[in-house]
Amino acid sequence: MSDLSAPLPTYADVQSAATRLAGVAHRTPVLTSSTIDGVLGARLYFKCENYQRMGAFKFRGAYNALSQFTPAQRAAGVLAYSSGNHAQAIALSARLLGMPAVIVMPSDAPSAKLAATRGYGAEVVLYDRFTEDREAISRDLACERGLTLIPPYNHPHVMAGQGTAVAELLEEVPDLDVLFVPLGGGGLLSGSLLAAKALAPQCEVYGVEPDAGNDFQQSLRSGKIVKIETPKTIADGAQTQAAGDLTFAVVREHVTDILTATDAQIVDALRFYAERMKMVVEPTGALSLAAAQNAGINIKGKKVGIFISGGNVDIAKYGELLSRGL
Ligand SMILES: *Cc1c(COP(=O)(O)O)cnc(C)c1O
Repeated sequence: MSDLSAPLPTYADVQSAATRLAGVAHRTPVLTSSTIDGVLGARLYFKCENYQRMGAFKFRGAYNALSQFTPAQRAAGVLAYSSGNHAQAIALSARLLGMPAVIVMPSDAPSAKLAATRGYGAEVVLYDRFTEDREAISRDLACERGLTLIPPYNHPHVMAGQGTAVAELLEEVPDLDVLFVPLGGGGLLSGSLLAAKALAPQCEVYGVEPDAGNDFQQSLRSGKIVKIETPKTIADGAQTQAAGDLTFAVVREHVTDILTATDAQIVDALRFYAERMKMVVEPTGALSLAAAQNAGINIKGKKVGIFISGGNVDIAKYGELLSRGL
């Protein structure tokens, strides 16, 4: 007996997700840099999900979930609440699958994000972050219109979809010794762990949270889900307050450990990506390299996977971070 909110996904679910995503998601490149290899004395393999459709791995989980809707669910449509990459992932996936999408976003979300979500054809419903409860609004909307809510991480189809990126990385580099994965609510890390356990059981897998928001690390240490205040960090894709029950169950069983990186370390990593690899990476996407460089894990002489989870930045803020720092 289990009191989890749904059955846990398995590697077979990651494989089915890969079949659904074939020809729809990009198979993103795996890049290397002899500069960083020289500095760290290791061989690094960067899985570049900043080049995924809509700019982040979240397309994988969203599309995998939506493509399993029943005809009735498809006709009514999908609902998500998010101001970040999940919103765009759901909006794009819904458009590709020809179903309506409603995204509940805070009225003070950056206008570029509102525009991007609307640009994919979704209906955006705004709420006041300070006076209204987005979960209540979403529940009411879902009820009235028969919409299916897809959460950003705590859902077996989302978790399985996210795992397909690390499955691709391990098909290309099967003998990885260590892998670093950005960590928010744990959808990406749990899917990645399912793939790694099946394809590269020798590989150590570390989740990397922002130092200011280490709820998952606290949860792992204490053996139960710990909830924190919304953390203040530039890693806006990892500002989650708590793990989900499903993501926590998978992570807890398989992860090697959970590490943290500070905002200053993230900015250094962003600069490295821009200067040396000519890549725009969003702050959350740089958590993995920041930890590989600073968290004290011995990677000397090893083959190391660095998961770059996304590349969506506010260009003005990004420019400021690169030029002035924090
Ligand atoms: C959502 C997101 C994460 C964190 O993913 P979880 O599945 O919530 O752990 C990391 N990086 C980027 C770019 C994201 O959009």
